[in-house]
Amino acid sequence: MLTEFHIGIDDTDSTLGGCTTYTATLLFQELVSKGFKPLDFPWLVRLNPNVPWKTRGNGALSLHFSIGEEQLEEVKKIAIASVERTTDLAQQATDPAVVFFTGRVSNPLREFSARALHDILSVREARQIAESVDAEVHLLKGSRGLVGALASVGADFDHDHTFEIIAYRTSETIGTTRRVSLDSVRQMDTLFRGLTFNNVDPETGRALICPHGPDPVLLGIRGEDPTSVTRALNKLEIDEPIERIMIFKTNQGTDAHLSCQRRIGALRPYQSTTVTGIVNNVPRIVRGGHVIFRIHDATGSVDCAAYHTTGSLRETSLQLFPEDSVTVSGGIRPRPSGELTLNVEKLEVTSLVDKIRLENPPCTNCGTRCESMGRGQGFRCRKCKARFPRNSRVEKVEHRRIRVGVYLPPPRAHRHLTKPASRNGIRRPTPFGTNNSSMDEILESLASISIAS
Ligand SMILES: [Zn+2]
Repeated sequence: MLTEFHIGIDDTDSTLGGCTTYTATLLFQELVSKGFKPLDFPWLVRLNPNVPWKTRGNGALSLHFSIGEEQLEEVKKIAIASVERTTDLAQQATDPAVVFFTGRVSNPLREFSARALHDILSVREARQIAESVDAEVHLLKGSRGLVGALASVGADFDHDHTFEIIAYRTSETIGTTRRVSLDSVRQMDTLFRGLTFNNVDPETGRALICPHGPDPVLLGIRGEDPTSVTRALNKLEIDEPIERIMIFKTNQGTDAHLSCQRRIGALRPYQSTTVTGIVNNVPRIVRGGHVIFRIHDATGSVDCAAYHTTGSLRETSLQLFPEDSVTVSGGIRPRPSGELTLNVEKLEVTSLVDKIRLENPPCTNCGTRCESMGRGQGFRCRKCKARFPRNSRVEKVEHRRIRVGVYLPPPRAHRHLTKPASRNGIRRPTPFGTNNSSMDEILESLASISIAS
């Protein structure tokens, strides 16, 4: 009897290197080589990027196989051994967790996973859910990784998803400069525009596909489908050996963390959220160049911060005016005072008010602009000395330098989950299928990857 078998892994990652995607890749390849049939590509599931204790990207991994019930114990042993082998348990920040779930993913698990995208979930809650849906939990050290491991199994790609192809370095090269030709990255970016995204930052020309740390990832190309990312990788000039390659299905570039719309009065620290409101005041610039503006809805008001690094998003924020209508998305941060700030990741200007400025009146005799005679004193023409009362100021509608629309930071300041402008209007729904043809396609496309060097 074949059954769906799901493995969730989180936090074999630490800031000093190591990478959960690498662990998942090794395990996926080992299981496939032993003849087990995958139901899908490995999933790379990004969770709420605004939780304070994340490592680099707050990602978790899950693998999905179709397995004979009599082989479940064997697969579990392989999985745990694989995670143990690739994790440096001596590192303080590493708390790997593995979750096994047998059968169709149930609604409580899906709901837990959806909340893990935009809320703060406790380990206690994760334990309760695991128990109620009969998921098997293995903690290799602390319990912090449990939330991610469980959430990755229940992820929902039904509304949108993307793919990332990751090439890994050999152990000898880890820690050295990555030898990928920048020219070839730019050419690939031009060739695969619309099919891949965030390869190059358009303003700085910097390649965004290579990380900078001592981790085993050489590069990752994000895109719309497995074939495009594979072809894009094969266009690159890479002057170092590649150890292995894997394609992940992922929620990166989908704005999945901003799907929860909240009222201002219901905001809590570290949520990712979307809020609709009216601008309270003229924005101000604070130390560091960040722009702060306050918005309100019927339930309260909150400061919004557009950081110096957010480019045109910051420039647009600076041009907002009281009574403008906006929809603001981002993470909620508590300030030492206990008040909350929304760190803006996306700004939608939905309507702009007329910005009225009061000007001194023109002289009715000669047309010259009058000057003020002092506070509350009225106006006088400089040329013909005619005088006008103090209520003779004229209203002037000022040109608004921004338009209604959506404003994003430049790609170099994107979160993994940020939906790039190039994906506007794109949504790739997918049913989680178990039919044989899709499984064959997966194995075929993974086998078609040639390791160029
Ligand atoms: Zn005059």
